Amino acid sequence: MSAVDTASGSTAPALREAFPRLRQLERLDRGYVRRLEKQQLRARRFADDHLREVALEMDRRTGEDPSHFDWDLVRAGGRDGMLGLLLPTQVGGSGCLTAQCAVIMEELCAACPGLALIFGAHALGIAPLLLDGPLHWDVLGEVAESARQGEPMLMAFALTEPDAGTDVEDLDLLAKGRISSRARRVPGGYSLSGAKRFISNGSVARWLTVLMPVDPSRPAETWTCFLVDAQSRGFSVARAEHKMGQRACPAAELVFDEVFVPDDRVVGRVGDGAGATLIVLATSRPAVGAIATGIARGAYERLLGWLRDSPDARHLLERQSVQLRLATMVERVHLARQAYMDAAVEVDVASLGGATRNPLLRSLRLVPNRVHRWPAVRRLASSPWTRDALAGFLSRATSNAAVTRSLGLSSLAKAQGGDIAMSVTDDALEIAGLTDAPVRAELEKLWRDAKLCQIYEGTNQLNRIEVYRTLVAGETMALLPPSQRRVDAAGVAA
Ligand SMILES: Cc1cc2nc3c(=O)[nH]c(=O)nc-3n(C[C@H](O)[C@H](O)[C@H](O)COP(=O)(O)OP(=O)(O)OC[C@H]3O[C@@H](n4cnc5c(N)ncnc54)[C@H](O)[C@@H]3O)c2cc1C
Repeated sequence: MSAVDTASGSTAPALREAFPRLRQLERLDRGYVRRLEKQQLRARRFADDHLREVALEMDRRTGEDPSHFDWDLVRAGGRDGMLGLLLPTQVGGSGCLTAQCAVIMEELCAACPGLALIFGAHALGIAPLLLDGPLHWDVLGEVAESARQGEPMLMAFALTEPDAGTDVEDLDLLAKGRISSRARRVPGGYSLSGAKRFISNGSVARWLTVLMPVDPSRPAETWTCFLVDAQSRGFSVARAEHKMGQRACPAAELVFDEVFVPDDRVVGRVGDGAGATLIVLATSRPAVGAIATGIARGAYERLLGWLRDSPDARHLLERQSVQLRLATMVERVHLARQAYMDAAVEVDVASLGGATRNPLLRSLRLVPNRVHRWPAVRRLASSPWTRDALAGFLSRATSNAAVTRSLGLSSLAKAQGGDIAMSVTDDALEIAGLTDAPVRAELEKLWRDAKLCQIYEGTNQLNRIEVYRTLVAGETMALLPPSQRRVDAAGVAA
């Protein structure tokens, strides 16, 4: 593997060299690869300056105390743009597409997956809002501004419930899932009750995108996304979990006790949440594949560095069994990277690319941010007419077949990446397991970090079920919102 950046010790190949498909893509969008390279370099510098050195110490501290959180690191990330990745350029963010986010996650995770997850979970919290036009840009503008001011507001995505994890990540399973949360219609909005579990950034986030059914007897038809202010009455954090890996990012159980959410903080339309969740996962699973690639690469690089630099270890490089293991690691890292980039490019170009390139949406950046707070503008943006128009726009910009295919490739990248991260860290640990050198502690941490890649954003089993349905059986899922949807007086999607 030829290095892009020998100074940082990275073994990742230059993007154009690694992905021939990017060269074709450049003909369509001349800046696409240049922007990817820029983000990769930016993330690599941030990882070298802020993550690598503190990774083990943060893992130790958060292992002892799961509520420990490194706000200084988050502030540094805010200054270096790591909190603005998914924020639209219209509100002062980077407006990164899927491939850019993925390349950034690989770089950060090669240094420290736990700290990187803070930025990844923040982006995931933002993702559902991007499907809702400019309605929540006032909040996103505050989020962008808070990072610039050095007092960052974090975001989180709350889907999983105490009795429903896999079930809320699949359209069919959701219909039968044991859902215990509920969003009840009240004057002017909805009242949210229930619990959400294992929410990354949940205990430190200021804003959360939360999914609940309006009618628990029909969860799939009434699954709805809400934007919740963590300072709302009735919201509390029950606990931060003791984690095995990626510890620097807290996973929390959250309690909603009649939390009021006004109508204009419903994200999308009532009942559109199930399809929207899967669209969000189709765009975020390539980044999970990239997290896994970063972990595998980090383990390979640490092992190789130790084998080359340590007088006690150098003789191991002479052994053919070790050479074969190293060759297999390189193969697997390469495969994991190809899979996530393939899925990400598919999302950016083939499925959701049309929506992001829309000139009308782009021109909204000319509207000053304060305008999004005007009551009349908010009324118009949250009206049924605008919401139907947005749904219609999305359906015209892409198709269920294209989004389903993206979901299949994203699930493939996620599942394959998770297994590769596990096997590469396992092999690396076995080789270094004979030593007392510090590399062993780093590899042991990466092995624990890798395990989570097989679990979150849907377990690998669930993701392989999606791969079967989409890429083997050729199913097309109804993921895009219908162009019209009405709710009855109880606020339930009809
Ligand atoms: C550290 C951490 C961070 C997380 N962060 C977030 C977050 O930020 N936001 C969020 O919403 N969620 C988050 N999650 C939740 C995560 O997405 C779920 O843990 C995951 O979806 C699995 O759900 P579960 O834990 O309830 O397991 P279960 O659904 O109970 O699954 C248990 C086992 O059964 C298998 N299984 C279940 N159903 C099926 C089926 N139909 N077919 C085949 N096999 C099946 C699963 O594959 C798994 O092996 C996080 C989880 C962890 C551990």
